[in-house]
Amino acid sequence: MAVSIYKPSYKKLTHIIFDLPAADRASLLALFITMEVALHWLWCLMVWIRQDELSGYVDIHSLYPLWLGITLSGLFFWWMIGRLSGIKNDDNALNRWQIGLILPYTLYIATVIVMMGYSSLYAGVSLVGGSMLGMMLMKRLYVWRVFLLQVVLILLAIATPYFGINLPNLRQLTITYPVFDAYSYLTYNEVMAIENAIAASIFKNDALGWNSVNEVQLSSAFFWRLTHIYLALPKAIFIVYAFRTLLVVLDNSKNEILQHANQDELTLLNNRRHGLKQMQQTLMQCSEKDYSVVLLDLDFFKNINDSYGHEVGDQTLREVAHIFSTTVPDRAIISRYGGEEFLMALPDTSHDEALAIAEQLRVNIAQHIIRVTKDIDLMVTVSLGLYTLTHNKLRLIKEECANRNIPAARRKLGKSKLSFLRSAEHSQSKAALALAKVKLPADLCQHLISTADKALYKAKDRGRNQVVSANNLQAEGLLEPPVAESIYGT
Ligand code: GH3
Ligand code: MG
Ligand code: MG
Repeated sequence: MAVSIYKPSYKKLTHIIFDLPAADRASLLALFITMEVALHWLWCLMVWIRQDELSGYVDIHSLYPLWLGITLSGLFFWWMIGRLSGIKNDDNALNRWQIGLILPYTLYIATVIVMMGYSSLYAGVSLVGGSMLGMMLMKRLYVWRVFLLQVVLILLAIATPYFGINLPNLRQLTITYPVFDAYSYLTYNEVMAIENAIAASIFKNDALGWNSVNEVQLSSAFFWRLTHIYLALPKAIFIVYAFRTLLVVLDNSKNEILQHANQDELTLLNNRRHGLKQMQQTLMQCSEKDYSVVLLDLDFFKNINDSYGHEVGDQTLREVAHIFSTTVPDRAIISRYGGEEFLMALPDTSHDEALAIAEQLRVNIAQHIIRVTKDIDLMVTVSLGLYTLTHNKLRLIKEECANRNIPAARRKLGKSKLSFLRSAEHSQSKAALALAKVKLPADLCQHLISTADKALYKAKDRGRNQVVSANNLQAEGLLEPPVAESIYGT
């Protein structure tokens, strides 16, 4: 039972820390901050409602400016939630906005801590807990710097009253009888109350009337405050630093594991699984543009292995992979598809563009000299099969999907309540078309690759060292048009 409760939350937390896009994580942090500010706002409301009872402990005049500041800050952080989540694909802008969130928050929280009593438990929790949460959701370096800034702010807030500067503080306490004589043993809270009273009297320059720095420094309040800081701050710094290091280590190991899982060890290209996954993702996003696929196979590669050994075969594969990655455009998704076969998916690429890229690749590889030893150089050629899914064809597939989805959508709607059914009747064809936009057939990827493979087979058949287009073969009637079922899938 414990595991079943623990596991999902662990997974969710891992997902939030490591998988959510940075903008969404920052936006989540802004949401948490807004919720915290809302709690402060409710506290002010509670004090305002009970001001008669609380006037002995709370300086009500200072409450109003604080309340106003909390309200304005809350509105700002609320606005930031939407602002941050809208920043996609612009790391610089996101960094700027992250600073725009975290810096005002630090100043805000420092003000609240000072106004509500700076030696409080809240200061410690905010300092350590807030930084840990921030590091999970935001650029860690920023959180670390802001954490150090807050350490400095807390030290300043504690030191300034002793140098005659009065920071606004909501807390007030008046001693009406000599507490010292009444107790031989004091609890922690009572000691704190007395210390605060002494400190308050020093700040207000009344009963005790201490006015020289030396006298103040000898006071119990000053001594114990410094002792608490001395004990707490180094520990807080160490905890936050260790936490930051831990997250960095976890992040690095995750990236390392991902790299091993996604990369082909020999050629350092994407492996087949990752290449197909990326192709599937880009294909599903593709809407108005052509999508091309190229399959490449080394010619008579077995002969290289047989004549020079497997190591030279491996070297050949590595060098071909290098030419591959330096020849093709950035948007190309290249992977090692099989032993000596490579796959290239070209999103947003027309048939003629893809043909030119494939031809250039063929020429570059054919002209490349592989130095086996000082005396032996060898050259290798490749055959390539190309297929382009034109945007017209893609639209036809989507329309077909939409038609197939309408009965399913109707069945679904039929199960709903009657009132919903009536209003849904009008919009169901629209809804079904929108659904089809995201629901392309799952086997579409495989269909494109196997069509390119047929062209590759033809290239081998025609004598190798050439590019053959499946689209041209289809136009010439040399390749069967695809069977509908295999395109649309189930
Ligand atoms: P074709 O022009 O018809 O493609 O002829 P081929 O010799 O290239 O084709 P075949 O499929 O007969 O041979 C492929 C060879 O690739 C067989 C296999 O030993 C070799 N191979 C597959 N993976 C690796 C690898 O990682 N390293 C090495 N050195 N060889 C590999
Ligand atoms: Mg092969
Ligand atoms: Mg081959």
